[in-house]
Amino acid sequence: MNTKITNYDGGVVTVPQKVVRPESVEELQAILRDTERFPSPVRAMGNFHSLTPCASSSGTIVIMSGLKKIINIDKQKMTLTAQAGLQLVEVAEVLKKNNLQFMLNIEIGNITLGSAACCQTKDSLDGVEYGQVNSYVTRIKWVTPSGELREASLEESPELLYLIRSSYGMCGIVYEVTFKIKPLEIVRFNYLIYEIDDLTQDEVSDIISANETIVCWTIGRTVIIQTRNRTGELKNAWLAGVRRWAWSYFAAYVGKNIRRYAPTTTLKNLLQNLWFAFQRLTFSLLSAIGGFSLYDSDKIINYERTPQSARYAFTFWAFPRGQWTGNLKAYLEFSENHFEKHGFRCNMPLGSYFIRRDSSSILSYSHDGDIISIDPIHAYSDVDKADWEFFLQEFNSWAYNRGGIPLLNQSPFVGKKHVVSAYKERWQKLSDWVKQVDLKERMLNPFFRELLL
Ligand SMILES: Cc1cc2nc3c(=O)[nH]c(=O)nc-3n(C[C@H](O)[C@H](O)[C@H](O)COP(=O)(O)OP(=O)(O)OC[C@H]3O[C@@H](n4cnc5c(N)ncnc54)[C@H](O)[C@@H]3O)c2cc1C
Repeated sequence: MNTKITNYDGGVVTVPQKVVRPESVEELQAILRDTERFPSPVRAMGNFHSLTPCASSSGTIVIMSGLKKIINIDKQKMTLTAQAGLQLVEVAEVLKKNNLQFMLNIEIGNITLGSAACCQTKDSLDGVEYGQVNSYVTRIKWVTPSGELREASLEESPELLYLIRSSYGMCGIVYEVTFKIKPLEIVRFNYLIYEIDDLTQDEVSDIISANETIVCWTIGRTVIIQTRNRTGELKNAWLAGVRRWAWSYFAAYVGKNIRRYAPTTTLKNLLQNLWFAFQRLTFSLLSAIGGFSLYDSDKIINYERTPQSARYAFTFWAFPRGQWTGNLKAYLEFSENHFEKHGFRCNMPLGSYFIRRDSSSILSYSHDGDIISIDPIHAYSDVDKADWEFFLQEFNSWAYNRGGIPLLNQSPFVGKKHVVSAYKERWQKLSDWVKQVDLKERMLNPFFRELLL
């Protein structure tokens, strides 16, 4: 009987003929070579935390959790080399014990290093220089679709690394990666609170200039700008644990269960309004006490134990930084109209990531300039899954019409016209390259077949 595999939030289900968990690079090579025993398409799978079917396959799924060794921590060169199946949070703990950390300690601790190296990611709160994890990957080793070993590095083959960093397993399976690291830092978060009508683009630019970086949260019409700066000492550091608990459990659990169990629409809306007011109050209190500081790697969140009842989903579209306040106001209008017409609104704060210009990979969504994203976040249950999915599709049309850029692993229902319009000639170049490196379409699943040119 075929195995059914469901992604983290439950929105994507795949039924492969074969699921295999290699424990050595030789085994991985043998899998890719043997087309009889391991039918195509062959897709690597980390933790399936993606929100699209990018890891799905009706052929063979290669679970990467058998390849989990740290190979070297080089304190002179400040690099870490490890196997692709390790989770970011596992490696961050080891680095912390050595007074070291990743350059980007992204919130999703369960991303595997292989996926982090060759897929799109985002992190605002460490994005002082770059906000995409693969921009700090200096060497990638992989097994090609025909089972050969290959590698690309910043010193020897930067053009190839530029492609591999966006390859999503389409050129083969990554088994080893080298990341830049740095000494462990303490960072401070502060919170500035605005009503949307009072916030101007110039003010946002001033805040960006006055701080190392920012991320924004919008609840109703209130915008919270969370600033991040390095600091020398820990302050209210216990709040780091509360923050992790809120993201990995509490916030989604409350939002989801209000929608799930409130018996009438009136009560549902009332409770949801109260819940939003509570969240605004929490941010106001954080602002009033002067925020808090924490070891940078403690901002990574481990979702491993989060039950289905406390999981959330989201989408991410990037927009030019200079248009953000205009886009945000337009989004609020769009989402308020949607609520009025269809009775659905998201139950978690809207995220907006500030990511600096970065041309380190072909699918960098900030290739042409700084961006600030619009990310609706929602904890859905069986009662409103269809409403959320409908909202996502409406949102995709809205974002596409405003020139937004989606991600292949974090923008549900991403389609060909979206990626063609967003990535333009880079999409053609990536499509041509994939055809060239995977002549027999060993890795090509229907999701990518539909998207590529
Ligand atoms: C609750 C939650 C919070 C999140 N927060 C963030 C966040 O803060 N920042 C962020 O950037 N993302 C975030 N994400 C999205 C997530 O990080 C990405 O979707 C990521 O790609 C998932 O990693 P994974 O290891 O689970 O890969 P999977 O989802 O299993 O796979 C993703 C893609 O990578 C390919 N792949 C996996 N391993 C390999 C390999 N070894 N070689 C080649 N190809 C491979 C797969 O085939 C697939 O195409 C979040 C997701 C969730 C559910």
